[in-house]
Amino acid sequence: MRIETAAVHAGRSVDPATGAVAPPLHLSTTYERDADGGYERGFVYGRTSNPSRESFERAMATLEGGACAMAFASGLAAASAVFQSLRPGDHVVAPRRLYHGVRTLLESIHGPWGLTASHAEMHEPGAAEAAMTPGTRLVWIESPANPTLETTDIRAIADMAHARGALVCCDNTFATPILQRPIEHGADLVMHAATKWIGGHSDLTGGVVVFAREDEVAERVREVQRVGGGVMAPFDCWLAARGVRSLACRVRAASASAARIAAHFDGHALVERVLYPGLRDCPGHAAAARQMEGYGGLVSLCVRGGRAEAMGAASRVRLFTRATSLGGVESLIEHRESIEGPATTTPANLLRLSIGLEHPDDLIADLERALAG
Ligand SMILES: *Cc1c(COP(=O)(O)O)cnc(C)c1O
Repeated sequence: MRIETAAVHAGRSVDPATGAVAPPLHLSTTYERDADGGYERGFVYGRTSNPSRESFERAMATLEGGACAMAFASGLAAASAVFQSLRPGDHVVAPRRLYHGVRTLLESIHGPWGLTASHAEMHEPGAAEAAMTPGTRLVWIESPANPTLETTDIRAIADMAHARGALVCCDNTFATPILQRPIEHGADLVMHAATKWIGGHSDLTGGVVVFAREDEVAERVREVQRVGGGVMAPFDCWLAARGVRSLACRVRAASASAARIAAHFDGHALVERVLYPGLRDCPGHAAAARQMEGYGGLVSLCVRGGRAEAMGAASRVRLFTRATSLGGVESLIEHRESIEGPATTTPANLLRLSIGLEHPDDLIADLERALAG
């Protein structure tokens, strides 16, 4: 089955009880026990399992080419569950550029709990390897990375990590399984903020981890889900599963528009630099060309001048909305440096664009006007 077909059908069937074509939303927190005390139908209690959640989890496992998946209350809850599957004293190698929430999670939650972490420039050959210690159990990668959109060579990192007995988890939020399936390139785990492209309409919060194998790591994360209890809510699962059905069309359209916008502003007099994995000078472009089928719906523009010029341009947009987050049908623009806090390494003149489903020419015209002042 090709991925477009899987996106429509995976984890879904006509409801046997009613014939409903659109899947029912299961809100029940508890399930009837059989007369003999068993649970023949498989569901017991809302935290441990839920039909709407299972449907979404099956869809994500199928799209990523994994064996199983677990959905959590947010992208960070999903990332946290992966870190919680490790033991105090274990070491994690993480990217220098990564979603700032994952950095904070490692530093302020899992650091005090006993995980140690080092950060490496993942797109530079040898850098991740140099950061490995005998205690490294996990290499965390994010590709393309937020917000500078460098690409990490997933296969190279996986080969290096596996040779040293470490697992690789890839945050695939920016690319989605439509453009990049990390398990095919050797990753053991794939994490998503379902809040972004998967949901696709800026109206749900959720996260998911997909596992290449049904093994003890998957079992440990399943225990974190079941006992830790940070599960994704049924309605959010239902919305996310609906998002999956149109994911291929939405992501490809956004990716094509983003490529056009990146090409338009590359070399523009008012733009110092365009960061987009599809541009030859974007770090890791060769790996992006190998492991991605399209370069995604995010583009970062470094505005000529500095912080004031970038903030000025953001203040003048009419079609783009100034807001954080990404992956919705509406285009968003964000000055990242001012949102990431004091530890940020993001350039002050950088504006991150999440390209939605508007016509790219309208978006280009809006940006042209905003840059010109
Ligand atoms: C948004 C995001 C997250 C965190 O997801 P939440 O649902 O906000 O917790 C993690 N990684 C990336 C790349 C993201 O964009």
